[in-house]
Amino acid sequence: MNSSLRQNFASIARALLVVAALAASAFAESPAIVRYTISLASPEQHLVRITLQVPPGADERDLQLPVWNALYQVRDFAQYVNRVEARSADGERLSLRLMDKSRWRIHGAAQGAQVTYEISADLVGPFGMQLNGQHAFFNFAEMLMYPVDDRNAAFEVQFNQIPASWKIATSLAAVSPNTFGASGYDRLVDAPVELGNFRESDFKEGNATYRVVVDAEPSDYDIDKLTGTIRRIVHAANGWMNDQPLDHYLFIYHFPRVGGAGGMEHAYSTAIDVNAQVLKDNYQRFVDVTAHEFFHLWNVKRIRPQSLEPVDYTKENYTTALWFSEGVTTTAGQYILLRAGLNDEARFLQHLADEIEALEFRSAHLVQSAEQSSWDAWFEKYPYYRLPDRSISYYNKGDLLGVLLDLKMREASGGKAALRDLFHTLNKEYAQQGRYFNDSATVREVAESLSHADLRSFFERYVAGTEPIPWDDFFRSVGLHVVQATQKVPDVGFTIVRDPNGRITVGQVGGNSAVARAGLLPGDAILELNGETAGPDFEQKLNRLAPGDTVHLKVRDSHREQKIHWKVDAREEVAFELKDVDNITPQQKARRAAWLSGESESSGEAHP
Ligand SMILES: [Zn+2]
Repeated sequence: MNSSLRQNFASIARALLVVAALAASAFAESPAIVRYTISLASPEQHLVRITLQVPPGADERDLQLPVWNALYQVRDFAQYVNRVEARSADGERLSLRLMDKSRWRIHGAAQGAQVTYEISADLVGPFGMQLNGQHAFFNFAEMLMYPVDDRNAAFEVQFNQIPASWKIATSLAAVSPNTFGASGYDRLVDAPVELGNFRESDFKEGNATYRVVVDAEPSDYDIDKLTGTIRRIVHAANGWMNDQPLDHYLFIYHFPRVGGAGGMEHAYSTAIDVNAQVLKDNYQRFVDVTAHEFFHLWNVKRIRPQSLEPVDYTKENYTTALWFSEGVTTTAGQYILLRAGLNDEARFLQHLADEIEALEFRSAHLVQSAEQSSWDAWFEKYPYYRLPDRSISYYNKGDLLGVLLDLKMREASGGKAALRDLFHTLNKEYAQQGRYFNDSATVREVAESLSHADLRSFFERYVAGTEPIPWDDFFRSVGLHVVQATQKVPDVGFTIVRDPNGRITVGQVGGNSAVARAGLLPGDAILELNGETAGPDFEQKLNRLAPGDTVHLKVRDSHREQKIHWKVDAREEVAFELKDVDNITPQQKARRAAWLSGESESSGEAHP
């Protein structure tokens, strides 16, 4: 496939010129350009009107709208498409036939054709496409049909009828103020676009400019604080990879007050949603997701498994590599945060202990391997599949495998080789050569050659297999072991549901709980807790209660208000912790310091 994205990362404008020159010399005609206009005339209806200019070529042409994008889920975006029409170069109506639910065939397109359609765009978040009165955010693969035989042509997108005062942010090259271009459909759709009254800042780091765009309530964030954090992450990541394969990069953030979680990686940008309240209460979530998505610019976008290429827009791309491409992206992101001073040892170890707990809690870890979980990613849209005895998460186990592989490589090489070296080698020998790697087999091969260890059993047992992981065997080399402590935690006995207007109702009520005996029912509206109105801080107040405390709730069902009293229960919870082994040795301490800095011990840069 077209590997221009991966080879030298020349600017898009230059790549377009190259494509144009190649096409001109090959066909001695003007190069094919696939052009779209995207009209934003109806934001209140979420309706986007799209015109596609199919360049001259074969008489019979197929147009495909991808069935999946951003998430590993088939979402059939054609379900949102309406009023598809095709006309010839001289304006005659052309026959248009649906070949399957996402592919249209036109006849009479030899001189080119104009295809128009509407799409309803109201999928919120970084994995979606949305036009409303406040802003627009588009992932083009969810909206733009492409001529199947022109997938590698030059593409241009022009926006029309943009509401007054809206600005545009995208990593695509600007051809004119409202027109953007890319060489190839894959490149075009790997660049989301934000339009609206966003705020922005930027900074330079090395040879690149990083642009930060935020679309959120101005009172919900401090753009200088965010930019300062992002800059530290960028600096630490570039340093950890010893690489900067781009000259521009765009961060797009939304901080919605309702919902909002997730980030989506792209080669030259990322789009991230964090709930506004979470941003205030738990800033580390913003930090973690930013580091993860930014590291993806290497791992998965450039250090890319063969199984994901070429992207098949008509059906699933099956891959066993997501434990590495997603999970180990989290591992590297955590090392980068330690390096940036945005994480510390205690929090990092607690994060690992929580990951161990999460994996051990899912009984499916004994039947589904990390590779299988990756293969089955396409099931994640189904609730049954997500049950703890049916599936594990390749994010969760992959993050742990990244740490274990790192520790294993360090141990086998006497501290000389580490996960960081693995990424450097994959970057040099695959990404920078325009090659894709062969999933787990390449990861194992490179790890073995760097550490001079036989890692067959590690990969067979823990990556391809489902053997229980002997945690202490891995963590001993850094003077740690896993401790399981049973603790009593308060249990109020019910869950809550908060609607978009902030009203709180009772979700589930524990079967044989004190609160059930007191008479609380699912669906009851909660008015007061211990004499105070149930407001935005209701959860925090609930979380402060201890076993034995009396709870006074005023609730209302469909008939009347009533007061309910009961005492908070306690339930036993197993908590995992990573703690120092007894009599920790200087060697274990040195290995831990090198590990926490993400360095190998030979580099002489090992600072905790
Ligand atoms: Zn990811």
